Amino acid sequence: MEKVLVIAAHPDDEILGCGGLIIEHIKRKDKVGIIIAAEGITSRDTIRNIKKRKNEIQKLHSVSNKVAKNLKVNFIEFLGLPDNRLDSVDLLDLVKKIEKIIIKFKPKVIYTHHGGDLNIDHRLINNATITACRPYPGQTVEKILTFEIPSSTNWADAQKELAFTPNYYQEITKSLKNKIKLLSMYKDEMRKWPHARSIKAVESLAYYRGATIGVKSAEAFQVVRHIKKN
Ligand SMILES: [Zn+2]
Repeated sequence: MEKVLVIAAHPDDEILGCGGLIIEHIKRKDKVGIIIAAEGITSRDTIRNIKKRKNEIQKLHSVSNKVAKNLKVNFIEFLGLPDNRLDSVDLLDLVKKIEKIIIKFKPKVIYTHHGGDLNIDHRLINNATITACRPYPGQTVEKILTFEIPSSTNWADAQKELAFTPNYYQEITKSLKNKIKLLSMYKDEMRKWPHARSIKAVESLAYYRGATIGVKSAEAFQVVRHIKKN
């Protein structure tokens, strides 16, 4: 049994980035926790107005709760931070919030965003997570992998930012259908084909990543750190 923590910026990133992988972990009876850092709604306004968007935030979080229940993960925790405005939060505060959950849950494996994504929240979550997982004596985290998010990882300026270069794959041939079903629950977050965040684009990416390793479907990751202890 392994303890796994998914640290995502927005509701839906947990499924877009590693939905298939979570399903595989649950099949293996691993314990999975999910953190959703930003509330996912208030970036629609020029000035953040939590009160005005309260109902929509509740509605979106209830979708995430349903998705988590469907996945049978151990917990999902919402940090409720400003959507697409994580750069208005001190990085140290972000680190401390993530660190608190890591100390309590003691995960061995972490899945989070790629540091070169276009989305500012994704980049900051990557930064805060890697800081929270620094390998001091007694740190439980031994493996950190980053996932790709269609419409962010593939929209970054590849000349300026870190390119996503996958070197770790999970076959999701048996779980792709379920991943798509869970993603469909986030219908307000998904866009129409040929948008990069459409169901067809997500399926196409899974086929492409699969064909890269000679299977029908896969999710791709990049290893940040993998420690083997005695
Ligand atoms: Zn996101």
